[in-house]
Formats: sequence, C-alpha cells, structure tokens
Amino acid sequence: PVARTAGADTRDLRVSYEFFPPKNEAMETALWDSIAKLQPLNPDFVSVTYGAGGSTRERTHRTVKRMVRETNFKPAAHLTCVGSTKDEIEQIADAYWGAGVRHIVALRGDAPDGIDKAYTPTPGGYAYGSDLVEGLRKAHDFEVSVSAYPELHPESGSWDAEIDNLKRKVDAGATRAITQFFFEPDTFLSFQDRVADAGIDIPIVPGLMLQPNFKGLQRMSKMCGVNVPSWYAGLFDGLDKDPLARQLLTASLVGELTAELHERGVTHFHLYTLNKADLAIAVSRVLGLHNRKKESA
Ligand code: FAD
Repeated sequence: PVARTAGADTRDLRVSYEFFPPKNEAMETALWDSIAKLQPLNPDFVSVTYGAGGSTRERTHRTVKRMVRETNFKPAAHLTCVGSTKDEIEQIADAYWGAGVRHIVALRGDAPDGIDKAYTPTPGGYAYGSDLVEGLRKAHDFEVSVSAYPELHPESGSWDAEIDNLKRKVDAGATRAITQFFFEPDTFLSFQDRVADAGIDIPIVPGLMLQPNFKGLQRMSKMCGVNVPSWYAGLFDGLDKDPLARQLLTASLVGELTAELHERGVTHFHLYTLNKADLAIAVSRVLGLHNRKKESA
C-alpha cells in the first residue's frame, strides 16, 4: 500500500466524502467540526445526501450552499425522484445551478413509507434514476453521478437488469457511478469487471462505509441487500459495550479493504463518513492522501 511506500505516486488518487444533512443544532456543530478537520485533505468532491422521500430537502440545500460559500470543497447534492414532480425537480436544479453547485448525485430513492414497501413513482415525477439523469442534463450542464450495486439492487432480478439499468443511466448522461458499500475486495472487483465487459466505461467508484456501530451496520446491510461476511461479523462479536475497540477495528478493516483495492488498481474512493472525521482521516491517510497534498503544493 501507498502508506508504506515513501514517495509513492499518489497523483492519480481521488477521494470523496459523503455527509448527511444535520437534523439539529448539535449535529450541525459536529458536522462543521468534522468538515474543518477534513478540509486540509482536499477531497476531489464531497456529497450531501437527500433524506428518504425528499424529507431533508431544505436541510440538504442549506448544507450544500453553505459548503459553496464557506469551504474549498466542490459539493455534490444528492437528489431523488421520490416526492417531487418534474417541475419541482427543475426548480431545485435551477436553485442549485444559481448557487454555484455543478454536480448532482441522481437517485430514484425508495418508497416514502419504508424501504421494504413497493416503490411507485411519484405522480408527475421522474420514475427511475435514468429518467432523473436525463431531466437534470436537459436543465443544466451538471456533472451527474449515479448509484451502482456490486451485490445487485434488491429490486433487480438479474445481473442483466442491473447492468442494463446502469447503461441507461450512462446513456442519459451520467459520468460516474458510486457503489453501495460492500466488505470484500472481490465483491467490488468482479462487479467492475462485469461493468467493463458490458462496455460501460465511466469510472465505478467504490463506496466505503465507516460505521463502527456494528448492530447498526447489520441493520443497514439487511435493508440494502448487502451481505455481511461471517468472518467480518465474528470480528465484532462481544464488542457491543466497547465502542473504542469497534472504532479501531473499523479503521483497520476499511483501511485494509481500501489499501487492497488501491494495490489492485482502484484510484477513486468514496467514503461514507457519517459526518465523523476521524475514520475518514485514518482511511484517507492509509491511501496516502496527505502526501498528495504535498506533491501538488
Ligand atoms: P435506479 O437506478 O432507478 O434503480 C432502482 C431499481 O429499479 C433497480 O432495481 C433497477 O434495476 C430498477 N429499474 C430501473 N429502471 C427501471 C425501469 N425502467 N423499469 C423497471 N425497473 C427499473 N437514497 C436516498 O433517499 N437519498 C440519498 O441521498 C441516497 N444516496 C445514495 C447514494 C448512493 C451512492 C447509493 C448507492 C444509494 C443511495 N440512496 C439514497 C439509496 C437509493 O435511493 C436506493 O438504493 C433506491 O432503492 C434506488 O435508487 P437508484 O437511484 O439506485 O435507482
């Protein structure tokens, strides 16, 4: 790994951080403390999620716009089809463009009453991620990123359906896909091969989850159709009351996963920070991001 190789070339390295919009003042303070710690690492971009069913619309906008005003970040706003008509999406897109935001992460979203409920498109809205990409690209010259699923989206019945969907999003104008989180390098690498075999040539960026609360991680994985390997679960066994050990283990495991992907040719990483700086800093440093800053200085 780069971290162990003094003077290794990190010029190709790209790291992005994902945040969620804070729910209250205390969470807002915590987020902005994390941002202050992460800014010196100069991520390539950061992104801010959009709550289920568009529930954080105002908070996402506020957070992204404050990033434009007060940081050196290039923020991307997540936006979902759920809960908005096409006209409303156009207004949101106009507002972002006017505020200087040039990158949108375009998603379908899930049924507003829960991820396990059947999805039905919002009346007058865009039905799928690919439709939203098309609408956004028509509205403005946004850079548009989309989602991808190394273990299949729970509603895609086959790899053909999954890959066809990604292709539709690329044909509609998406230029990068960020993946759902996963736990083993081969899960990502075989998906990357599958995508390349289908002739899709946009960058596929691995999404890495920095969640030291293992019970929460298991819940989230189940909802998203992500497999938690038994060896991984075994490592957290008996640590329910030991948050520090879980934190250290998470840094070690995600650091190792990231370093292995990097060694095997992956150069862009998207970190789900959960608004905390420490794990994101540790993993970024394993990759050598702190050295990249010096190289480009
Ligand atoms: P799509 O790409 O539209 O695909 C959804 C499903 O529909 C797939 O199974 C696909 O095969 C199928 N499909 C697509 N087109 C058609 C068609 N024409 N006919 C039939 N089936 C079709 N959720 C949020 O609410 N807010 C966020 O900020 C957010 N950020 C995310 C970021 C990333 C990187 C990822 C991976 C996910 C994120 N999500 C977010 C979760 C996402 O909204 C859900 O996973 C949702 O279930 C699918 O959204 P999508 O954009 O991947 O859907």
